[in-house]
Amino acid sequence: MNRKYRKTIIAGNWKMNMLPSQVKTFADELKAVSPRAKWCETVICAPYVDLTAAIKAFKELRISVGAENLNENEKGAYTGEVAANMLVDLGVKYVIIGHSERRQYYGETDFSVNKKVHAALEAGLQPIVCVGESLEEREMGITLERINLQVKAALSGVSAEKMRRVVIAYEPIWAIGTGRTATAEQAGEVCGAIRGVIRDLYGARIARAVTIQYGGSMNDKNAAELLAQPDIDGGLIGGASLVPAKFAAIIAAANQE
Ligand code: PEP
Repeated sequence: MNRKYRKTIIAGNWKMNMLPSQVKTFADELKAVSPRAKWCETVICAPYVDLTAAIKAFKELRISVGAENLNENEKGAYTGEVAANMLVDLGVKYVIIGHSERRQYYGETDFSVNKKVHAALEAGLQPIVCVGESLEEREMGITLERINLQVKAALSGVSAEKMRRVVIAYEPIWAIGTGRTATAEQAGEVCGAIRGVIRDLYGARIARAVTIQYGGSMNDKNAAELLAQPDIDGGLIGGASLVPAKFAAIIAAANQE
């Protein structure tokens, strides 16, 4: 983390877990164990149907709410889809874009990710753009090339002004939901490389200010070590964000004096 230049963001990704009727209980349990988040912004990204309950339940805790996806079109005949302005209208602040599960199971590509980034920014949302290499790519030694391409494609056509609202999450695919975490050095190296790509695209000042999270089996045990890396400005957390005590411990790790 580097609190002097950029915001630390601890974001949960509930994925397809948590019933709307369970949200308030989760918030109450988190409130009971949660430390004061003096140095970080906390976000919960929830399924669409949970968003209204989440916005209500997390207001008092000052936890922002994000969606896990959006449609790239403004409105129209896209049955079953949700547009960016619908999320804004509810009070949603963030949206995860290009999560590897969406790339893997729902055919999302670097191109569709770019369209979604533009749709989110146009509507006033803050996109959390996920990038990450597969195990095969890491073993072939092409991690940084893959990440470089994903970041450039996701940000294609994004103005410097709008870039101030973009968050990048480095999520090595082999570490998501596997219990296998990147070492702090591996994660720090790639997050540093991502900042380098942003520096090339937007200059040093914007690169210094962009929040870059790590995601991939971050938990209450490894969060402090990962967050100690200078280029890791927070986490995108799946499994551990479903357990109030674990999520609270990660928030505490981000708020150590
Ligand atoms: C994620 O879904 O973005 C994630 C990092 O999941 P987990 O923490 O469970 O690996």
